[in-house]
Amino acid sequence: MNFEFSEEQKILKATIRNFAEREIRPIISKMENENYFPYEIIKKLGQLGMLGGYANNIDTISSAIIIEEISRISPAIGVIISVHNTLVCNGIFEFGTEEQKRRYLPDLISGNAIGAYALTESQAGSNPLEMNTSYKKVNDKYIINGRKIWITNGPQARYILLYAVENKNNPKNSMTCFIIDTKREGFQIGIIHNKLGLKGSYSCEIILDNYTAYKDEILGNEHEGYKIAMKLLTGGRIGIAAQSLGLSIGAYELALNYSKQREQFGKKISEFQIIQYYLSEMITRIYASRLLTYYAAYLKDKGQNCRLEASMAKLYASETANFVVDRAVQIFGSLGYAMDFDIQRYYRDARVLTIYEGTSEIQRIIIAREILK
Ligand SMILES: Cc1cc2nc3c(=O)[nH]c(=O)nc-3n(C[C@H](O)[C@H](O)[C@H](O)COP(=O)(O)OP(=O)(O)OC[C@H]3O[C@@H](n4cnc5c(N)ncnc54)[C@H](O)[C@@H]3O)c2cc1C
Repeated sequence: MNFEFSEEQKILKATIRNFAEREIRPIISKMENENYFPYEIIKKLGQLGMLGGYANNIDTISSAIIIEEISRISPAIGVIISVHNTLVCNGIFEFGTEEQKRRYLPDLISGNAIGAYALTESQAGSNPLEMNTSYKKVNDKYIINGRKIWITNGPQARYILLYAVENKNNPKNSMTCFIIDTKREGFQIGIIHNKLGLKGSYSCEIILDNYTAYKDEILGNEHEGYKIAMKLLTGGRIGIAAQSLGLSIGAYELALNYSKQREQFGKKISEFQIIQYYLSEMITRIYASRLLTYYAAYLKDKGQNCRLEASMAKLYASETANFVVDRAVQIFGSLGYAMDFDIQRYYRDARVLTIYEGTSEIQRIIIAREILK
């Protein structure tokens, strides 16, 4: 049994930590105040070789390291990268033809193109089988119509893995994953969602109005979309677990430092037993999140089924992040409630972690299904 990162992984962790401190920290306030999308960071991550997931020889453990370290400073950039790497790049790498890999991956790896993943619709959230987005085959063309919501990276994406059904009465066996080119006629951005947190990361509605796709733009086989969507979400959940872990560490560090500076009753507040109890509980749960996240990543890299472990990691790490930010705000007292202090950003950013890529309720259902089968 080995609980240590390899030498390469340690170097990667130090490199990305350094990059996040040097390049990302200075633009946080611009992202927060102007909802600024950090194109230049995405490009620089591409230059550093941090984009592309498996397609760029980045295994799941390394991918989790990258997302964790970025999310320690910016959970918003964490989710941009998680969607791009774990869902889109890994998706094309795993299910794409050689021609599709040649066509799409170089730009996605360099950061010249950003990827998005479009499954959710207004009536089809936890249950994607209720989707209305559909396609009709007309000779060699596939005409797609429908509306997706909450699509992360939607406004910036060049390519979107989008799911549509051929037969609404049989969605499971007729769902197909298309690689959408957002520059083509028939593609449109709808409303941009106004979010509680993750400022600088965009989620939007997307509209397909007689969008024409071709056979060589189907990812995997036609009608295998549901299987592909679920398989990719398993990997994606490890990314969100890593995002949750990084966010937890960022908030914990702020609270720890503050507790060692703030004095009340003639003592540092870190000397009060109740604050020590909070901090010890926070760090213990963070360690547990880390073990679950990297264990799921390890299994995925070994090619083993990690559906159970990915859901446990996502469930536990996302709920831990919400626990940690709540205690961190408590340790900051009134300053935790002040918009001038960074801890409120972590508090707001954490809230979505138990919702996207499968809510906590859905993770519990998957876990129960896996252990009972
Ligand atoms: C910021 C953000 C980014 C997102 N990015 C993307 C993206 O890039 N691509 C994409 O496709 N989607 C994205 N989503 C959508 C997200 O995945 C969905 O919001 C999520 O799956 C939940 O769906 P819903 O919001 O419709 O909630 P609902 O499914 O309506 O659920 C409402 C409540 O009911 C509970 N519930 C539902 N079914 C059950 C059940 N069977 N048993 C018990 N409880 C249940 C849920 O857990 C939840 O608490 C994003 C969402 C947000 C907020």
